[in-house]
Amino acid sequence: MSGKFAVLVALAMVATGCTPASDTPVAPPVVPSASVVTSIDLGTSFPQQAFVDQCEDWDEWDKPAPPFELLGDTWYVGTCGISAILIIGDKEHILIDSGVKAAVPLILQNIRALGIDPRDIGTLLISHEHFDHVGGHAAMVQATGARVIASAEAAKVLASGTVSPDDPQAAIHPAMRPVKVDRIVADGEVLRIDDKEITAHLTPGHTPGAMSWTWPACSLPWQPPVCRRVAYVDSLSPVSGDDYRFSDHPALVAAFRTSIAKVAKLPCDILATPHPSASQMLDRMRAGTLLGGTTCADYARSIGQRLDARLKDEGA
Ligand SMILES: [Zn+2]
Repeated sequence: MSGKFAVLVALAMVATGCTPASDTPVAPPVVPSASVVTSIDLGTSFPQQAFVDQCEDWDEWDKPAPPFELLGDTWYVGTCGISAILIIGDKEHILIDSGVKAAVPLILQNIRALGIDPRDIGTLLISHEHFDHVGGHAAMVQATGARVIASAEAAKVLASGTVSPDDPQAAIHPAMRPVKVDRIVADGEVLRIDDKEITAHLTPGHTPGAMSWTWPACSLPWQPPVCRRVAYVDSLSPVSGDDYRFSDHPALVAAFRTSIAKVAKLPCDILATPHPSASQMLDRMRAGTLLGGTTCADYARSIGQRLDARLKDEGA
């Protein structure tokens, strides 16, 4: 059975409440017929409403949350307060962010709940190099065997476990367990992983090595055929340690503004962010507007306003 069909059959079993007996020979792949297609509804098994009911805005980073579908092959598998995004591939899968260390078992549990073996995750990507998004990387690599891909600046932090001295929050972030980085990704590079293509967008500002990602999410075979452009856009919040002033670092502020302008133009039918509430995810889910709703341009505008306000405060 090919990786994809193994996943799809497993997902179908989850959706229909079946559990495979461990010693049962695996049947050859069967593409669901039209009548079966309508009976398999992952959205019913993992409704977005369950996440809305269980979680609150700016929730705890290690609070369990149910997984939910962003679209087809793209799933939110994080906790209530910290995102982790799973992209289901043909033979291997991609995970973006591992959350805090305590979130790793919860993320793995969500991945398994979808019928996916974490060892089939071949690639681990990151948003930005802070412990709330990559503190679980070492444990996640251990559980999955995935290769780690990061920007050059983020790679230094992952490999050393120590936040960059150029990071506005350098003074307040704890050390992390170091993790080996297998590959550096450059701005604008398209990673071709199995049957997926995911584009890296370097968006420094919140951290020097921050990355945003875009890819087309497409429906699974039994769903109505559709693809939408997903943007997983980094935090970009202009926050810092007590003694740091953005206005003392004009090069960083210039890079920050370039990042904001870049985010405004990203392909962005569905916006997700490392902290769900940073893009009003719960509000959007309640309103049924995860598709559309807050756009990358809206997000960029609000970040730009926050940066302006921060610089104004520093000058006052
Ligand atoms: Zn951060």
